[in-house]
Amino acid sequence: MDAVRDISARLGPERVLASGPAFEAASRVWNSAVEHRPVVVVRPRSTAEVAVAVEAAGEHGLPLSVRGGGHDWLGRAVRDGGLVVDLGAMRRVTVDAAARVATVEGGATVGDVIGAAAPHGLVAAAGTVGGVGMAGLTLGGGYGPLAGRFGLAADNLLGAEVVLAGGRVVTAGADLLWALRGGGGNFGVVTAMRIRLHPAARLLAGFAVYPWEDAAGLLSRLDDHLPAAPDELTVPSGVAGAPGPAVFLAPVWCGDESAGQAALAELLRLGTPLESTVAAVTYPELLARFEPYAAGGRHHAMRTRGVPGLTPDVVGALVAAGERRTSPLSGVVVHHFHGAAARVPEDATAFGNRRDHLMVEIGAVWEPGPGEPHRAWADEVSSALAPAALPGGYPNLLRPDDHDQIAHAYGANAARLAEVKARYDPGGVFTATPLPSPKS
Ligand SMILES: Cc1cc2nc3c(=O)[nH]c(=O)nc-3n(C[C@H](O)[C@H](O)[C@H](O)COP(=O)(O)OP(=O)(O)OC[C@H]3O[C@@H](n4cnc5c(N)ncnc54)[C@H](O)[C@@H]3O)c2cc1C
Repeated sequence: MDAVRDISARLGPERVLASGPAFEAASRVWNSAVEHRPVVVVRPRSTAEVAVAVEAAGEHGLPLSVRGGGHDWLGRAVRDGGLVVDLGAMRRVTVDAAARVATVEGGATVGDVIGAAAPHGLVAAAGTVGGVGMAGLTLGGGYGPLAGRFGLAADNLLGAEVVLAGGRVVTAGADLLWALRGGGGNFGVVTAMRIRLHPAARLLAGFAVYPWEDAAGLLSRLDDHLPAAPDELTVPSGVAGAPGPAVFLAPVWCGDESAGQAALAELLRLGTPLESTVAAVTYPELLARFEPYAAGGRHHAMRTRGVPGLTPDVVGALVAAGERRTSPLSGVVVHHFHGAAARVPEDATAFGNRRDHLMVEIGAVWEPGPGEPHRAWADEVSSALAPAALPGGYPNLLRPDDHDQIAHAYGANAARLAEVKARYDPGGVFTATPLPSPKS
């Protein structure tokens, strides 16, 4: 194929995969239900090489995609018949401990960043799964266990180097940086980011699992408790477990440890845990605890809703979700958004929803095989939550055809986001998280 020959000539054949086992492996993503496949994967080692790959995709009329950690459940790192710019060889993280800033290459994972910051007693606002791409997470928003204390990952994005359509390299100015903070990978290839780090050598964190019979009671008591949670305390919760469902809290305290011990003891007393692993951990240790729940090789379908709290309707929907699961691997995670994340002005970044809320991540998971019953379960849970939900939803998890949710996903920022898109990527070369159509 001309494109493969051309890019191989420009970058060297070792940077280009178009067949064979390495190509097959590079074409697969975390969600093995994703079936679409590219025709060529390019593995650049520098921004200049990314620019060559982007330019070549344009010249050869190939649909372009960018692969970071490959964890987008819809497989948007790969486009059918397209060229993938795989940033897997660009994962360097450099920490300026005195300035508390990390410079992060576009392919670095959450684990790379957290691992590089930890020896300096520093943390980044990131997620809980080490294999997720730091850029993918950050560009879409980035809910995480430090959101109450330090905001979203996107709120800690200080600067970015971007390869635009056609291959031009820019340092993001005010408008582009604003859009990258929550507007997704829709503007160019982010080859490097500067992100704010924060001092925190240890966290108090872990899982507390409660009996299923107490699910409704526990979640209702949690609803009374969360509005008073200090910034230091962020409390993801949810419904998961095998063979039968259990309800869990996964609190994270980031701050003074003795105050944290007291706050967590009070939180855990909301019910009688069957087991609790809540203890002092480093952030890398926290990532290791979540690792088993994020294994690749399975089939996944996700839906998402934002809800204002664990109101009786929401609790009813979550309990029904647990009882009606079609796979013991499926579950619902409720992410806690409050504190520092909620104090960022609505128009300061492209991220659309700054009120205190809970982001409900509905995850159908099954071993490779027919997916229909599991997808139907996820749809059912999403529909049950809809009447109580806030408009919109978390763009990193929305599907392109979730039109009603996409229309509100960026709140009042949608019009400015469309303007920035039109300025930086008028040809629509980059397609990542769904953007509202300018008229919606
Ligand atoms: C197991 C798991 C755990 C998760 N945990 C969290 C969590 O705690 N908090 C949270 O908010 N979200 C979480 N997510 C969602 C996650 O943030 C998004 O799916 C994110 O897009 C994944 O980024 P990635 O780089 O791994 O994925 P990819 O599939 O590689 O990329 C996702 C999208 O971002 C684009 N992209 C990636 N890197 C770049 C770049 N450098 N420049 C331009 N575009 C780029 C891609 O083109 C693609 O469209 C989780 C997802 C999974 C599967």
